[in-house]
Amino acid sequence: MTFQDLNLLQNIQHALSDEGYTTPTPIQQQAIPIILEGTDLVGCAQTGTGKTAAFAIPILNLLHRMVGSAQKRKNIRALVVTPTRELAIQIGESFDTYGRYTNIRQLTIFGGVSQVSQVDQLKKGVDVLIATPGRLLDLHKQGYIDLDHLHNLVLDEADQMLDMGFINDVKKIIKLTPDNRQTLLFSATMPIAIRELADSFLTKPKYVSV
Ligand code: AMP
Repeated sequence: MTFQDLNLLQNIQHALSDEGYTTPTPIQQQAIPIILEGTDLVGCAQTGTGKTAAFAIPILNLLHRMVGSAQKRKNIRALVVTPTRELAIQIGESFDTYGRYTNIRQLTIFGGVSQVSQVDQLKKGVDVLIATPGRLLDLHKQGYIDLDHLHNLVLDEADQMLDMGFINDVKKIIKLTPDNRQTLLFSATMPIAIRELADSFLTKPKYVSV
């Protein structure tokens, strides 16, 4: 299978060619078609398997079609929640790279730094927000983040978020999003608490494992 077979927009194919990607990795081969059809997904995959692109590519594809060239886009359409600042930055860079030829605006936010520039960017409008749980809830509480119109929610490294004590924050975040969202949960391992999270908050998910 090649990326050509996945029916992606030319803008995205072009960015993948720039990167020298020709063949989707196994997690990408399995996950991208499921995400494009709008189905919820549980992905059991470690870092290094290409899992970031497995969700970033189809989300960019869905959003680019949806937002088109509409002028006044105020609402956050996709949210990626990830446990650490380092992961958040890496995911942001992936969205930048694969979305290079789209009109999708993305922002990465995390704690431990001033919120000023993050808030400035939020006020300008963001399509994809990549965030660590604490800063996300903090800025939401202050009224800078509106998740009422979210289409896609990604819970990345769910088992690590559990280990770091973020599980209640994650549940709070999910409850701030619309019920009709598409939810994608990625985890390297599937402890019972993560399976329960998936059972409670995902709708008829498909499972993929690499
Ligand atoms: P991740 O598992 O998301 O951390 O990705 C691991 C690495 O694989 C990243 O450096 C990506 O740039 C790279 N990568 C992801 N997908 C592909 C692909 N289809 N072909 C070649 N490299 C890839």
